[in-house]
Amino acid sequence: MSKRQFFVTGTGTDVGKTIISALLCRGGHLNHQTVTYWKPVQTGTVDTIDADVIETSAPNTKVHSTFSAFSAPLSPDQAAALEGTDGPRASDLARVFKESLAQTDNLVIEGAGGVLVPLNKSGETWIDLLRECNLSVIVVAHSGLGTLNHTSLTLDVLHNHGIHVDSVILNGPNHKANLESLQQRYPEMNFHHCKTLKKDEDDLVELDEAASHLYQRIFRLEDHSNSQNSLMQEDQDHCWHPYTQHKTNGAPLLLKRAKGIYLYPEEGEPLIDGTSSWWANTIGHGRPEIGAAIHRQQQTLDHTIFASATHPQAIKLSKRLSRASKGHLSRSFYTDNGSCAVEVALKIALQRAQNRGETHRTKFLSFQGAYHGDTCGAMSVGTSDSFHSPFSEIMFEHHSLAPVTAHPSSVCPDGPDCLEQGIKELEAFFTKHASTLAGVIIEPLIQGAAGMIFQHPKWTQALGEIANRHQVPLILDEVFTGLGRAAGYFAYEFLGLKPDLVCIAKGLTGGTLPLAVTLSTETIFQDFFSDDNKAALYHGHTYTANATACAAANATLDLYESLDLIGRSQVIESRFDAWLRKNQSSGMIENGRTKGAILAWECPNTGSNDYFSLISKDVVEISRQEGLFLRPLGNTIYFLPALTITDEELEDALSRIERLNIRLKQRMDAKAT
Ligand SMILES: *Cc1c(COP(=O)(O)O)cnc(C)c1O
Repeated sequence: MSKRQFFVTGTGTDVGKTIISALLCRGGHLNHQTVTYWKPVQTGTVDTIDADVIETSAPNTKVHSTFSAFSAPLSPDQAAALEGTDGPRASDLARVFKESLAQTDNLVIEGAGGVLVPLNKSGETWIDLLRECNLSVIVVAHSGLGTLNHTSLTLDVLHNHGIHVDSVILNGPNHKANLESLQQRYPEMNFHHCKTLKKDEDDLVELDEAASHLYQRIFRLEDHSNSQNSLMQEDQDHCWHPYTQHKTNGAPLLLKRAKGIYLYPEEGEPLIDGTSSWWANTIGHGRPEIGAAIHRQQQTLDHTIFASATHPQAIKLSKRLSRASKGHLSRSFYTDNGSCAVEVALKIALQRAQNRGETHRTKFLSFQGAYHGDTCGAMSVGTSDSFHSPFSEIMFEHHSLAPVTAHPSSVCPDGPDCLEQGIKELEAFFTKHASTLAGVIIEPLIQGAAGMIFQHPKWTQALGEIANRHQVPLILDEVFTGLGRAAGYFAYEFLGLKPDLVCIAKGLTGGTLPLAVTLSTETIFQDFFSDDNKAALYHGHTYTANATACAAANATLDLYESLDLIGRSQVIESRFDAWLRKNQSSGMIENGRTKGAILAWECPNTGSNDYFSLISKDVVEISRQEGLFLRPLGNTIYFLPALTITDEELEDALSRIERLNIRLKQRMDAKAT
């Protein structure tokens, strides 16, 4: 069970925040739970002290001491000013929380006033604390007149700041129409009704049943495991998961929400999202900026046909992608996933040859271990035998060469000879076959799905140069390496390549909505620009350049600029690099390697390295216990954080990884003997 911690706020003063907090504390006791209560800031101590109310009405509660108290019944900033001082800083409150309460289960934190009440002279509000501590909120509101507006305003503000609201408690006489109206406006929200009468401790005893019930519902004691079990059963009855043998795989992880670098499972502790949600989430989960952009766009122009129509978001995105490539890739063709971006690149390359009358150019060159996606064309140029063998009959033939890799476990051992040999092989191949090639496709720098296999950069550079020289279109599949993952907008920047086509997908919307793009040079585009209708590219998808996804992509790229996420990726790389140097000799890891926000290594003593390798189960099991969500590729373990990961979070993640490696090595050694 993840820690049950709630911040109780109200839509205004006197809506019954304290009485509801007292009910929750009392309800916890009635359910044999120890509840901890914290009132970080108390104003109006001349009248009442809320912690006292709790101590009288819910005597078994552990009351954590208040951080700042002021006598005037005003907002914290004003009450503090009257005493010639300033109200508390959000960072000080956050520090108390992190040091003393972050690990506490069954925690009720009660604010003062509503969420936008200023805490201090600099105008910080509760929102700043909620954000910093990633707390879930319970909103207490009146049940009667005025509640529709006040409750909606509070919920909208919290949503806009990306703060998770767990439930709303309407306090007062039952007013069914108000409840229904709010439920209609916020269909995902849990609404509860509670009638607490007066703010008088004695009344609470009469409310024992209500208290116990409210506690069970808010803290999800009752039916919790039942409802979860039935949800999991429904998953097993109706969902078909990717890359999953349903018969032998364990149950999937039921996720309740995600925020920043954390995934929150329905059961258990939060987990660091170590695969960036299948390599896509570069900006952390639940960024309010993206939510706002999606919402705005959906209300403005949600989706439209992109043949014979256009819209500002796609135009803006195409322009900035062109700018990111310094004008080299001036054209954007949109699809909705990486496989399709590759499919489109292959089709463009093939048709281009036809359009130019070079009908003999029908073949592709790709590289052993390549993964370009799961649609037929993308499979054809890939070499994931274990995944794709059932489809071999319908895949087209292609040429395949071994890449020259750059770390010791490689197919070809590292060293100058191997590089020279590999380049010679490329030269020979192109001399013989260039005139039949429609294109060459490669994941530049790093083959992702193959197991984070790093290429010798000089070899990849040579490939680009040779392809250019032989006028064979160079297609770069940067679905994985692009957009900061490998420390640049494009990995090819590090190699000085001149690609003709580049595929981008993962990370384009920061991991929020499906969107992919095949970028092309103007030269390639001009081969389709003709008076002949048949020379046009007859390819398109219903959701080509979906406006909402393009808005999410533009908001994502805004974040890349404002937070300098490319620079951040380089900082993460240097931290990984230092960590590897420290750990390389520990005997816990082999072949450690890093580029940008990619860290990969192998566990020693693990035998065969294929995707179905058994070490996966051990890695998954131990990493979950260490608070990490990882999904190894065979024996290769990798960690791909969001680029927004903070220094503190990064250190925490690396120490968890160290513990994982130690435990994994112990287990492997035990198995080996
Ligand atoms: C993931 C991936 C793809 C396929 O993208 P999807 O969106 O999963 O279809 C293609 N190429 C590379 C290099 C990838 O990592």
